[in-house]
Amino acid sequence: MPRLRQQNITAAQWTPNGGALGTQDLTLPGSSPFGVNVFSPAVQRQRLPKSVLQRLQETLARGEPLDVTLADAVAGAMKEWALEKGATHYTHWFQPLTGSTAEKHDSFYSPTGEGTALADFSGKELIQGEPDASSFPTGGIRATFEARGYTAWDPTSPAFILENPNGALLCIPTAFASWTGEALDHKIPLLRSMDALSKSAMRALRLLGDQTASRVFTTVGPEQEYFLIDEQYYYERPDLMTTGRTLFGAKPAKGHELDDHYFGSIPERVLACMLEVEFELAKLGVPIKTRHNEVAPAQYEVAPIFENSNVGSDHQQLCMQVLQNVARRYALVCLLHEKPFAGVNGSGKHNNWSMGTDTGSNLLEPGDTPHDNLQFLFFCTAVMQAVNRFQGLLRASIASPGQDHRLGANEAPPAIISIFLGAELERVYDAIERGEAGESVPGSFLGLGTPVLPPLPMDGGDRNRTSPFAFTGNKFEFRALGSSQSLSFPNTVLNTIVAEAIDELAEELENAMNSGEALEAALRPVLQRAYAQNKQIVFGGDNYSDEWYDEAERRGLLNLRTTPDALPYLVADETVAVFDNYGVLSERELESRHEVLCEQYVTKLNIEAEVAASIARTMLLPAAARHLALLDAAHLEGLQDELHPRVEAFAAAISALEEANLAENQPDDDLLEWARYMRDTVIPAMETVREGADQLERMIADDLWPLPKYSEILFVK
Ligand code: ADP
Ligand code: MG
Repeated sequence: MPRLRQQNITAAQWTPNGGALGTQDLTLPGSSPFGVNVFSPAVQRQRLPKSVLQRLQETLARGEPLDVTLADAVAGAMKEWALEKGATHYTHWFQPLTGSTAEKHDSFYSPTGEGTALADFSGKELIQGEPDASSFPTGGIRATFEARGYTAWDPTSPAFILENPNGALLCIPTAFASWTGEALDHKIPLLRSMDALSKSAMRALRLLGDQTASRVFTTVGPEQEYFLIDEQYYYERPDLMTTGRTLFGAKPAKGHELDDHYFGSIPERVLACMLEVEFELAKLGVPIKTRHNEVAPAQYEVAPIFENSNVGSDHQQLCMQVLQNVARRYALVCLLHEKPFAGVNGSGKHNNWSMGTDTGSNLLEPGDTPHDNLQFLFFCTAVMQAVNRFQGLLRASIASPGQDHRLGANEAPPAIISIFLGAELERVYDAIERGEAGESVPGSFLGLGTPVLPPLPMDGGDRNRTSPFAFTGNKFEFRALGSSQSLSFPNTVLNTIVAEAIDELAEELENAMNSGEALEAALRPVLQRAYAQNKQIVFGGDNYSDEWYDEAERRGLLNLRTTPDALPYLVADETVAVFDNYGVLSERELESRHEVLCEQYVTKLNIEAEVAASIARTMLLPAAARHLALLDAAHLEGLQDELHPRVEAFAAAISALEEANLAENQPDDDLLEWARYMRDTVIPAMETVREGADQLERMIADDLWPLPKYSEILFVK
């Protein structure tokens, strides 16, 4: 079905308090829960004296530090509000490099010495916290004995209240830094990258003739895929409990082939759970828009309306947390792993990304005549140049062991980064390359052959579901993120590399205009040059096909299949240079991220390998031995002869895996070397054990097999 163009959105949705400002727009008259647990601008307006509110807004608009009296006033109002909502504790809520969120709770109440307690929360406590940084990964930024780390209030992401049956908690979104000021989290670089992009984009907008906008925000709307399974099976699977994915399991007779799940109605228990998830998220000001079944059995998707990147990323973390919490109330478990079941589609997260001005215009909106929309062409071309130049970095920004199962496995885009523009835009760019003005095909309508159905406006191009980076009407969709991933880092990368490309194009444009050319005459050659140099990144065909792999190789595009292939791009010279130029991450901060990601890769795989060896030896091998004994007792020699060598081979594979897992094999210094060892030695050893186990699963008495099977886990809803 052709897609109906999304309405242009109001500026409120991408202003600093995007999610919360949306409150007024989304709250239905009467009883809507939207935003009731958010210290939103609307609540601030009610609760803060006018002068305080005005100073706060001015400080935020100018991006200046808050002074203490102002912070005290805000803290006082926030505390009163939170106490009325039943909060007893507050926490600085932050995003360490683990990729999840962290909290350290403090009580509002201090004893008075007279047997009572007084609620206390000052500006200082609002602005700054000091969790013990030694328990969070720092990638060598400091040694453990230098434990000091600070959290700093991010007033651009609204505080919120997390409810619990036994109390409530005020959460204050914060950034997390070492005591030397280095970023130990994902929020700081994201905020820095948003500033960088705004600066570059504003420069370009002025050249392009926009004199009214004063700030550009990047926007993100994530589509989250996840599995819901019955919790009974979860508890019966030590692999799921420990690693988030099944390390064993033969493919069931029925998978998603019939598409009966994708297109079926949502099962009642699942829908009940989704409704509660959405209710909880609404209270937190997270504007959920769509929900549906996904391709794999037991797989679903949820997507909010987009917000500015900072608030959107915070809300995405909340979305994952709420999904997991609420599922438990329905005896379900929410799996966010990228590949919980081998042979069954895994889960991703589509990162819809755009740039918008504070005056409400979306810089990637082509309008009806993209060929003469200079502003759109400028920014779209900048994105193309950035993505082409930093393919490796983009791939690295989404790398994890879970992703290595998914990318390129015909269920997610390949590890080759390319851009889908759509037929209409490709035509426009081909004309630009030939130095022609080009034309846009006037919008047409699709008649459905009966007058009772309305004619549908047709889009200029079809959709491409296989592209890792697709233009989808008025935004780009980076479709290669992993389902468990934080949005912050990939968006930090996108913002930074696009900021650089915008500056480069702006520089060329400026030079041409300075030598007297009018805007359009100056811009056309810039676009022509940029497109000609970067069009190798544009691909409109089937990204899953073998031909594309060959073609991409001919074009010289990178194909970084695994995490250890991709991670070096995080610290490559051109990466260090762009992050440094735009003040987003220093070389040390980049190196620390490289180290943390290498370490996480090694650690996660090591845990998987040890759990796999343990399950195989202590659960599966005994089951096989019992089955052999039964065959023996029943004098079924033929069957015994058939099974025996397989069990022997399985036992040998387990020993080989245990051998591979031995600590003394591990290269000690270089983490990347160690990551390669995991990839080249440990993963193949695990795979051999798994192959043996999955064959045995099909041969051994069902009542002896100790693990729930895919056919049960995936189909009990
Ligand atoms: P589809 O993926 O089918 O195109 P939508 O057009 O509804 O679906 O958008 C999917 C996601 O993209 C939603 O989360 C939506 O809010 C988000 N989105 C829409 N416009 C923008 C934008 N300008 N910037 C960022 N995200 C956007
Ligand atoms: Mg989509």
